[in-house]
Amino acid sequence: MKAMILDKPGQPLRLANVEAPVPGRGQVLIRVHACGICRTDLHVVDGELTEPCLPLIPGHQIVGTVVSAGDEVMGFAAGTRVGVPWLGSTCNQCRFCRSGRENLCDQAKFTGYQLNGGYAEYTVADHRFCFPIPEDYPDLQAAPLLCAGLIGYRSLVMTGSAERIGIYGFGAAAHIVAQVARYQGREVYAFTRSGDSKAQKFALDMGAVWVGDSQTIPPEELDAAIIFAPDGAVVPAALRAVEKGGVVVCGGIHMSDIPSFPYAILWGERVLRSVANLTRRDGEEFLALAPKIPIHTEVQLFPLESANEALDALRGGRVRGAAVLVIKEEK
Ligand SMILES: [Zn+2]
Ligand SMILES: [Zn+2]
Repeated sequence: MKAMILDKPGQPLRLANVEAPVPGRGQVLIRVHACGICRTDLHVVDGELTEPCLPLIPGHQIVGTVVSAGDEVMGFAAGTRVGVPWLGSTCNQCRFCRSGRENLCDQAKFTGYQLNGGYAEYTVADHRFCFPIPEDYPDLQAAPLLCAGLIGYRSLVMTGSAERIGIYGFGAAAHIVAQVARYQGREVYAFTRSGDSKAQKFALDMGAVWVGDSQTIPPEELDAAIIFAPDGAVVPAALRAVEKGGVVVCGGIHMSDIPSFPYAILWGERVLRSVANLTRRDGEEFLALAPKIPIHTEVQLFPLESANEALDALRGGRVRGAAVLVIKEEK
C-alpha cells in the first residue's frame, strides 16, 4: 500500500510502498478514504511530542470502511464505515480507566503516534475504539469530527454553562465548536493571530458575534475561553478576558511556554485547565449530536501524496477550516 512515513521528527514525510497491515486479535483492517490533519500531527512531525513509535504513519482522524476483521471482533461486517480517533487503546484496568477517565490512562496508545495511523491506504485499529460514522456525513466532511470536533466538544463541555465564550485560534476545532456553541444558544467571541483578517472573516462566517486579535480585551467580559492556538502567550490574555469564576480551557496537546502573570488575573475563582485526549463516551455523545445541529465542516482537500504540503499549509495558518487527506482507490 501507499503510505506517508515519518522516519525522524523534523524531516518531511516519505512516500513509500509498504506491506498493508494484517488485523490482529480485536482489530479491524480498514480501507482509508479520508484522514483529517490535526495540529497534533504537526507536533509529532516537528518533534514537539517526543514519544512517537518510529517509523510512523501519522494521522488520527480516519474515515474508512472495514475490509476484514481479526479474531474476537463482533459486529464489524466488511463494508461498515468507521472512524478511528486519537485514543487507540487503553489498559482498561487503572484508576483512570475505571473511573470514566480513560483519556488519562498511563498505558494509553494513540493513533498516528504510537500506533500507525491514516496517512495510508490501509490501517488497522482496535474495534473497541472505532466509532460508527453518522450516515449523512460524507467521508471528507466526517474526518475533522474525529479529533478537531471531539476535542473541541470536550473543551466546550468543560466551560459548563458559559454563555459568552472566547475561542483563541480559529482553525479546524474552533469552526466546529462555534457551530455547537451557537446551536446551544451561546455567543462566540473569536480571537486570531494579530491581523489575520482571513481567519477573522471565517469566524464571522461561522457565526462569531465578535472577532479580534488574541491580545485584545473584548467589549464584553467572557464567561469562559477555549484556547486552540499553540501559543502560551495567549493564556494570560484569556485570563484577563474572562470574568470572575470563569474558566480558561487549553484544548491543545502542546503550546509554547506560558509567560508569568500576576495572580490578580487568576484571582476571583478563575480556573485554568487543560483538556487531554478523549474518552469513547465523548465520541459517542459528539457523533450523536453532530448530525442534529447539523455540523458542516469546511474542508480543504489534499491528495495523500501531498501530506507534506498540507502540513506546511497548517503550519503557516493557510487552511480555512480543516485540512483533509483524500486517499483515492487504486484503479
Ligand atoms: Zn488505564
Ligand atoms: Zn488531533
